[in-house]
Amino acid sequence: MVALVFVLGLIIGSFLNVVISRVPEGRSIWRPPSACPGCATPVAWHDNMPLVSFVMLRGRCRACRMAISWQYPIVEAATAMLFVLAYLTLGPTPHFIVAVVLLAMLVAVTAIDLSRQIIPDVITLPGIIVGVAANLLTGRVTWLESLLGIIGGGGIFLVIILASRGGMGGGDMKLGAMLGAFLGWKIALLALFLAVLTGGIVALGLLLFGRRGRKDAIPFGPFLALGGAVTCLWGPTLLDWYVGHFLVAGIVLIG
Ligand SMILES: [Zn+2]
Repeated sequence: MVALVFVLGLIIGSFLNVVISRVPEGRSIWRPPSACPGCATPVAWHDNMPLVSFVMLRGRCRACRMAISWQYPIVEAATAMLFVLAYLTLGPTPHFIVAVVLLAMLVAVTAIDLSRQIIPDVITLPGIIVGVAANLLTGRVTWLESLLGIIGGGGIFLVIILASRGGMGGGDMKLGAMLGAFLGWKIALLALFLAVLTGGIVALGLLLFGRRGRKDAIPFGPFLALGGAVTCLWGPTLLDWYVGHFLVAGIVLIG
């Protein structure tokens, strides 16, 4: 079963590569079929197998030997590993299906934000609806928690955008709302907290090692996606731990 989930992840990852390459340019993800960007030779089915073909072709186009982007094998392997992780954590449950849908969207958002510094509305806006619908079908999160998640997840960014005048983008706001729809407000807040924490650590590291100046923007989408992925798998456990420690600390302090 794990092997089957891994292969499913590879296939979805392969599809996500098409989404990542084409959606930001407004091109159709269904047509035309994949072709080499260097020589326009259509990619044959046996050269289009996720991961395997990249290794067989040693990362180069069969016709013109142009290097194939590392994005392809990385996205395929990452999607497959996340799917396996979701299966091992959640088991064969409806929650696994919801997690897999969210994880696939987060992989696409991360790759697009890293390469182009945008988070496309065509992923996040339908994602909000898909998140609410998935929760209505599976009952993982109530519709009210989902709705409050959309308002809370998007609202926090709206406040930041208004306060900072452009420090954060509208794309981050819609991604926050999408996470709220999928995870419900409590887990979404935890996802935001993790995103700020990891984003802060990475920003500080880049600043210390002189890789970025204080004025350079670092895309926040990948950190939001990381927070969303971690909490969609372990959110309730993390929340219990977090709240538990807070309560214990509070009681100790009061005592
Ligand atoms: Zn070529």
